[in-house]
Amino acid sequence: MGRMRRLLLPFILFLAGLGSGCAVNQTAISGFNLISVEDEKQLGAKFALEIEKQYTVVNDPELQGYVDRLGKRLLAGAREVEFDYTFKAVKDDSVNAFAIPGGHIYVNTGLIKTAQNETELAGVMAHEINHAVARHGTRQLTQQYGYALLLQLVLGDNPSLVAQLAASMFGKAGFMAYSRGMETQADYLGVETMYRTGYNPEGMLTFFEKLDSMHKESPGGLTQFFSSHPLTGERIQRVKEEIAKLPPRSYQFSGDNSEFRKIQGRLR
Ligand SMILES: [Zn+2]
Repeated sequence: MGRMRRLLLPFILFLAGLGSGCAVNQTAISGFNLISVEDEKQLGAKFALEIEKQYTVVNDPELQGYVDRLGKRLLAGAREVEFDYTFKAVKDDSVNAFAIPGGHIYVNTGLIKTAQNETELAGVMAHEINHAVARHGTRQLTQQYGYALLLQLVLGDNPSLVAQLAASMFGKAGFMAYSRGMETQADYLGVETMYRTGYNPEGMLTFFEKLDSMHKESPGGLTQFFSSHPLTGERIQRVKEEIAKLPPRSYQFSGDNSEFRKIQGRLR
């Protein structure tokens, strides 16, 4: 199988090249991906080790337990859970969260401090979870660096290359730019995940609107979030329209913010 796979590769790459740049269908997550789920798990594990050297994972079991519970709760509303998801808070004041391949989600303390309530935090996390569910990371990396390099990272023993790529993509000064189609899809699926889980998706909207006005007031303050997730008026409008289409329901997790307040208090 290994040899066959390798022999077929140039041909597959050729085909992929023909189709690259194709639009993301926001309602379907099973798009074409050269990296297998197993390979992505391995790549994700390597990246995670590296990321946790570059960031400080907050040493507070109560905070980590909270972020993990919130993440796992949201996973129940996701379409597909192929990875062993991990959710960790990292010490960083910029308002951001990020997903690396293989379902490892990181939430900056700056995001937890800035969110108004648990639902707003859930909104950003639902967005990130769906970058992982739809496997945007490996798709984007394949487009940017090519399949051969990614496979080399998975199979090879090249820690410095892993470190370099992890830093340039997901590190503090990193720049992981998803396509506009991927951002739209993560929003779309994120709203759906919130709705199914029992969080009011309006929380995503109110947080995006807040970020948008913060960005207008001081454009330099949110660089990281905006570089990896360009927040356009059109994006906000789409989220609004999607929410308007949802049948009314009661959101059992959007009422109680006592735990969120407690966690926020620990960070201040
Ligand atoms: Zn995004």
